[in-house]
Amino acid sequence: MGSFSNKHKIGILGGGQLGKMLLTITQKWDIYTKVMDPSLLAPARIACNIFIQGDLMDYDSVIEFGKDVDILTIEIENVNTEALAFLEMQGVKVYPQSSVLKTIQNKCRQKEFYKKNFIPTATFCLFKTKAALIDALACRKISFPFVWKSESMGYDGFGVKIINSNKDLKGVNEGACMAEDLVNIDKEIGVIICRSPKGETVCYPCVEMEFHPTANQVEYVLSPARISPEISEKAKEIALKVSDAFQHVGILAVEIFLTSEGELLINEVAPRPHNSGHYSIEASYTSQFEQHIRSILDLPLGNTQNKLAGVMVNLVGKEGHTGPVNYKNIEHILAFEGVNPHIYGKKETRPFRKMGHITIVNKDLALARKTAEQVKKTIEVISE
Ligand code: ADP
Repeated sequence: MGSFSNKHKIGILGGGQLGKMLLTITQKWDIYTKVMDPSLLAPARIACNIFIQGDLMDYDSVIEFGKDVDILTIEIENVNTEALAFLEMQGVKVYPQSSVLKTIQNKCRQKEFYKKNFIPTATFCLFKTKAALIDALACRKISFPFVWKSESMGYDGFGVKIINSNKDLKGVNEGACMAEDLVNIDKEIGVIICRSPKGETVCYPCVEMEFHPTANQVEYVLSPARISPEISEKAKEIALKVSDAFQHVGILAVEIFLTSEGELLINEVAPRPHNSGHYSIEASYTSQFEQHIRSILDLPLGNTQNKLAGVMVNLVGKEGHTGPVNYKNIEHILAFEGVNPHIYGKKETRPFRKMGHITIVNKDLALARKTAEQVKKTIEVISE
């Protein structure tokens, strides 16, 4: 197989932690890699053959980077899709394809895609401007409460807001947006599906995102999800339908709401390895990173079953701490059973910045969940 031992070049746009974890596989299989990231301190830099500093949204930089690779993939969605479309025409295999990225980069376009493909999603109304949304409220085309979502990719929670009254609209930006029905969420579920260039698919067991009771942050990702086999099958069917509709190649992480009424609604997708699949590194037969590399190289897809139950805890920077990072008490958590820390290698911590994650594996999900709680109580990401 030509991909191994440096015969093929894989280019990765983005050099964050997802890129670094993808590179553990290319290193294992001796596959030649090139990575581009705007930051010289990118975590993936230490594990690739060639590192290029460059702007992922810049047309010329992406073309220059991609023109001598055989396969181009991403670890972040915010990349120049026009450049990717050009590279595709030149014969570079771009996975996920530029068309997939173009659809998902825009939340409104993504929602329209679900509607067009009859994939169940919360009801929504699109608006070209904030003023148009306010007009729709005035003439009662929409009403409070609803969820405002900005068309362009949100960051640090600025792209999504629950709107209960006119007052809540004050802080939101002026641009194109949608008003989405506020869903009564019982559980947030994730399904990771992987599709090969031939159209074969494999699906991981559903995971469950457990939120902090007060702060609106995912605290734990549990695999498998604590849901009935019927709900689990239905969620996988939705993931398969979405995967078929996109015809993507590579990993697709599908976020689904299970409503209090027992309905399943798709929220959004990410066509790349995802935080909700990190547990797979230790808990699955094939990690999401290996699966992604297998699929973009058109190799047989791997077993997605769990060897053990897994609970993942994100290591985020503690509030009030900015500066060179220190992982306080990491030596203590290493003494707990089944604990696997991943430190991304970012030099500086900031409040809530994702600095690493920890996966706890156990035969018994409830025991892994208990240890995860202990881990969370013990370790602190602070500045020195
Ligand atoms: P982002 O792309 O910034 O992660 P999401 O669309 O995933 O934004 O929304 C973030 C969170 O907001 C979701 O995980 C969910 O908890 C909540 N949320 C999003 N849409 C709705 C909705 N229609 N109803 C209720 N809660 C929602």
